[in-house]
Amino acid sequence: MRLLLAEDDPDLSRQLKNFLEDSGYAVDVSLNGEDAHFLGETEAYDAIILDLGLPVMDGISILKQWRKEGVDTPVLILTARDSWSEKVAGLDAGADDYVPKPFQIEEVLARIRALIRRAAGQSSAELSVGGLTLNSASSKVTVDGNPIKLTAQEYKLLSYMMHHPNKVISRTELTEHIYDQDFDRDSNTIEVFVTRIRKKIGLDIIKTIRGLGYQLVAD
Ligand code: CA
Repeated sequence: MRLLLAEDDPDLSRQLKNFLEDSGYAVDVSLNGEDAHFLGETEAYDAIILDLGLPVMDGISILKQWRKEGVDTPVLILTARDSWSEKVAGLDAGADDYVPKPFQIEEVLARIRALIRRAAGQSSAELSVGGLTLNSASSKVTVDGNPIKLTAQEYKLLSYMMHHPNKVISRTELTEHIYDQDFDRDSNTIEVFVTRIRKKIGLDIIKTIRGLGYQLVAD
């Protein structure tokens, strides 16, 4: 899963980025509104964290633009404390949820998980396909109840597939959702990850669809 974090406070944005990456997300950071608007419009994100008070272009204007342009990525806004009017303006501009500052990072993370789940049509934090289970809150993966150890990249890939069961997903799409923009991307590595994941889970549920990509299906 890949996130855009638009926050101009350098300390807060660094802290959030580290925490999100440690929690298994690929993260792109924008320190100004113009850059954030551009990235949200052109890159593939599973969710966006948007501070409303950004330099160059403010959060509400960015949000309105995105929604007008058809960008339907879930957006969590960071609002000033005690400003009910900012929350209302943000939600009316197309935000899906908000967190007032100051916040506990765990709360931001829990809300992001919920937004990503809901956007994928999943209501439970525990995703299951066949005997394979992935808990998006604890990041634990099990097969028939037995824990499976995955690397960070393997986890990102499997998590994206588990959020979109039955969907045929191209290698390009997987690449876009597991790497941040600074990463030297190579879609051939996706094949390597899939092979390793198949070996680790020992279940025949990741199908190769020739020329199109992969599909996670329960038999
Ligand atoms: Ca700010």
